[in-house]
Amino acid sequence: MHIYFHNAEDQQRWAYTEGLNVLGQRELAVLAPWSNDDLRHRLLLNLLEFIECYIQSQPKRILPGQTFQYDWSLLRFVSDEDNISGTGSDTLLIEEQESLFAFDDVPFVPGVARTLELMQIQHKAMQRNRVTGNVQYPFPAHFALIGSCVTPETIQQLRPLMAERYHEPEGQFSGWFIGCCDKSHDHDNPDELGKVHLMHIVKGLPALFPYIAMPIGTALLFEEDKVVVFLPGKEQGFVDSEAHLNYSTLLSL
Ligand SMILES: [Zn+2]
Repeated sequence: MHIYFHNAEDQQRWAYTEGLNVLGQRELAVLAPWSNDDLRHRLLLNLLEFIECYIQSQPKRILPGQTFQYDWSLLRFVSDEDNISGTGSDTLLIEEQESLFAFDDVPFVPGVARTLELMQIQHKAMQRNRVTGNVQYPFPAHFALIGSCVTPETIQQLRPLMAERYHEPEGQFSGWFIGCCDKSHDHDNPDELGKVHLMHIVKGLPALFPYIAMPIGTALLFEEDKVVVFLPGKEQGFVDSEAHLNYSTLLSL
């Protein structure tokens, strides 16, 4: 598969694939308003290559109307009936949801701008904190285990608060645990644990979002005015210089 870029008649810039048809798959096109040196350009190439791998890995082909979970986003494919991409009406266009932090029937809109904005936030957090290792993107419907001290309501106020990624995403579980730092509270007691969808956690604690794809063994300490990052296997943490503590703008994406 090759990925090309061109401007359609209305001057919008599109990325489109060539070569999926040899796999029996309709070609894809998606709005790509970024220049080649923008991080989102590379993230878009990753996205298209991920979809190609998915197509190669199993016998089904993507059809119009089908949805696809990618990182935090639900994408949808639709026919380009009016050929707005300029690559032919047989092409499938990629859409994303209008809001990535809402629950109910959220309408789809053309492109993947929000999706890549979120991925960029995660990517930058990993870069500046020098995170290496196996990045694992959880889905909003994955569960986090929480101590009984934490609820989607108290999570906004309770500090210090710790989050640790104990294991790989497994079934419905993201691998994240979130609890208080009160030593008298036994987080190993199953009666003291609950599970909550990551979507609820992130809505209560948007500052967690940049870190949620970080590898197993990553731990975070949320204090009033800073986030301390502990990389896998490291006893010593360090303050994330650009942590966003009041990351409510995230929720508008
Ligand atoms: Zn606790």
